[in-house]
Amino acid sequence: MLLDRFGRPLTNLRIMVTGRCNYKCFFCHMEGYKEGSNELSLEELQIIAKAASKLGIRYFKLTGGEPLLRTDIVDIARIFRSIGYVTITTNGSLLEKYAKDLSEHVNHINVSIHSLRKEVYRKITGVDGLENVLRGVKLVKDFGVDIKINFVVLKGLNEDEIDDLIELASSLEAKLQIIELHPVGRAIDGFGKYHLPATKVIKRLLEKASSVKLRRGMHNRPILLLENGVEVEIVGPVGNYAFCSACTRIRISYDGKVIPCLNWKGPAPVDLRQLMKNAYRFEEKVEAVIQGLKLANSYRRPTYLWPLSGATSLRSFNGKNMRLPLPKRDGSFSLPGRDAKSFLKQLKSEWNPQH
Ligand code: SAM
Repeated sequence: MLLDRFGRPLTNLRIMVTGRCNYKCFFCHMEGYKEGSNELSLEELQIIAKAASKLGIRYFKLTGGEPLLRTDIVDIARIFRSIGYVTITTNGSLLEKYAKDLSEHVNHINVSIHSLRKEVYRKITGVDGLENVLRGVKLVKDFGVDIKINFVVLKGLNEDEIDDLIELASSLEAKLQIIELHPVGRAIDGFGKYHLPATKVIKRLLEKASSVKLRRGMHNRPILLLENGVEVEIVGPVGNYAFCSACTRIRISYDGKVIPCLNWKGPAPVDLRQLMKNAYRFEEKVEAVIQGLKLANSYRRPTYLWPLSGATSLRSFNGKNMRLPLPKRDGSFSLPGRDAKSFLKQLKSEWNPQH
């Protein structure tokens, strides 16, 4: 297993299989990349899958753009499913078409539903598509695939819908993932207006929770088990040191660039497509990708977002009272009396890099 300079394992690939989308969510972070259509072919994805498996990577998230716009999405899922755990994050607009075939090749599906109100849904996504998505998600459930609902919580727009989403999750026997708005891509404009800190959401939900655990090895995400049996996972990275300390992932763009983090600034340090082009036989291409992923892994570092609403205390996440400094504008930070490495070592001792 690969470890980065901070001792964090790399076990997880987030692959943007396309840069095309049929929605226009006004806050889309575009996975920290740009729109486009110069997509990796099935053959290239096969080489990447083989290289990842040789490096011990076993968890694959297929995302986009909208991944179901790729007509070979079932084949892509099949490739990665043959070596590990596969999930797809989709806006759900094409689920009716693919639910059956995908159900055989994915472990679970994340469906983004940011509102259950027709008008708010349209305002967020630019598409009048809520009913279509709800039909698709129901079909996925009928095919027996586990569902997670992704809900980006937005201050003053959909924050009052959390209870309705919990109800929906309950009726679908799904999990609910409440995601804090990240100030990346289109979300930079309007971040001040719509950002609701994850800590506030946790505070509201704690009243309904019968237990709380951390999803270790996956950003130390708090998971609240509610009294009605629904599990709510909170994705709250903004200013959250615990989140980055337990990051196990790296990202690949649709055209083969490796991006160490959603908050990565500047050009991607590794171009897998170019590395594959420079090699000749299949095995040589696999080896080139292995070297590329190793190099990209060496660039991974905990990047703390510049918190517009103040630093989040670790206390909310692990019960300890730690005062944390604000990161600098470039995402780096300094800690009085000890360096970043030893601080992360301390954090790491509190979590176990298992899914
Ligand atoms: N098109 C697919 C979808 O809508 O689910 C997959 C791509 S989308 C970029 C992946 C996930 O990131 C979705 O759940 C989406 O809601 C979430 N997301 C997009 N922009 C975000 C932002 N600025 N902050 C937090 N989550 C965001």
